[in-house]
Amino acid sequence: MKIKSVLKWLNQYFVFFLMVAFVITCCTMLFVSTLRDSLGITLTDDNISAAAKLTFWNVALLSLIFTAVDTIRRKLTVERPVKQITDAAEKIIKGDFSVRVKPQSKFGADDTFNQVIDCFNKMAEELGGVETLRTDFIANVSHEMKTPLAVMQNYGTLLQADNLPEEKRIEYAKGVTDGSRRLAEMMTNILKLNRLENQQIYPKTAEFDLGEQLCECLLQFENVWEKAGIEIETDIAEDVKVKADAELLSLVWNNLFSNAFKFTESGGTVSVSLTATAHHAIVKVKDTGCGMTREVGAHIFEKFYQGDTSHSAGGNGLGLALVKRVVDIMHGEIGVESAVGVGTTFTVRIRRA
Ligand code: ADP
Repeated sequence: MKIKSVLKWLNQYFVFFLMVAFVITCCTMLFVSTLRDSLGITLTDDNISAAAKLTFWNVALLSLIFTAVDTIRRKLTVERPVKQITDAAEKIIKGDFSVRVKPQSKFGADDTFNQVIDCFNKMAEELGGVETLRTDFIANVSHEMKTPLAVMQNYGTLLQADNLPEEKRIEYAKGVTDGSRRLAEMMTNILKLNRLENQQIYPKTAEFDLGEQLCECLLQFENVWEKAGIEIETDIAEDVKVKADAELLSLVWNNLFSNAFKFTESGGTVSVSLTATAHHAIVKVKDTGCGMTREVGAHIFEKFYQGDTSHSAGGNGLGLALVKRVVDIMHGEIGVESAVGVGTTFTVRIRRA
């Protein structure tokens, strides 16, 4: 390594020597010929050889000084920032995303390096953010998987008991089925969200009647509201057409309706309304359920967030993250108003056809 850098240095010295020798020879020749012509001086061989020797040693000394100054300049303005960047890149390769490179002092440093350093630091910051999201996501998925898996394991063990009465066998088997359904639902939601986030789904837009879609989605919950004793109110404007991906949009209504029924006690009311302005369709899903605090409301669109843990068994905190993503893809808006013990209203606004 040392020999290599000495050779590199000698090579640099040689280049400077040639450069300086060339410049000085040209200047000297010009100077001597002008002097000789104007003064009519005759130069002897001794004079010429003494002048050549002096010039050679001057050139050698000047080259040495130039090489030394250039080496120091390069070390400070090129090699040092490059080393800092490569060291930081190596740390990132090893998984340390907290590393940042200090900008070079403006004095003497090439500003291009500061641009590279700026981009590098931004990249490190982005990578760090993505890594946090990834680890949080994995932690959340594993946590969410543990509960149904533990329940299923428990019921599986109970099922192995000898002489199990028929009703217990059915109850335990149902526990296993419910647990596996929950897991399957969570996996489906994770896959949907992943596909939506990676933009692998491109909305297949078509014009359709939004009121009809809302009624169809709502009817799928008929047995739920009947079983729970929840009243239904609808106020759906006619002939409100939207141009959107019907399948994606039904995901929004299904999640909002399912939450409204889940968080509303027996005797409560769920109302669905559709109104229209010149350019927008406005859907409101209102319930007289438990409502939520302002703090909960601030996080409900985050993945895996569950504000009300008493209902956590019935979901996985992915529903509203999906809803928000779909509304964003459709360039719509979603808002929520809620008061604890009074109820919640979700308002979705999308462009009309
Ligand atoms: P999940 O319903 O599976 O918990 P969601 O993403 O659908 O997940 O909802 C996130 C959280 O938002 C819920 O845990 C709950 O705290 C709150 N939430 C959503 N809808 C309502 C509602 N209609 N009433 C009260 N709280 C709600």
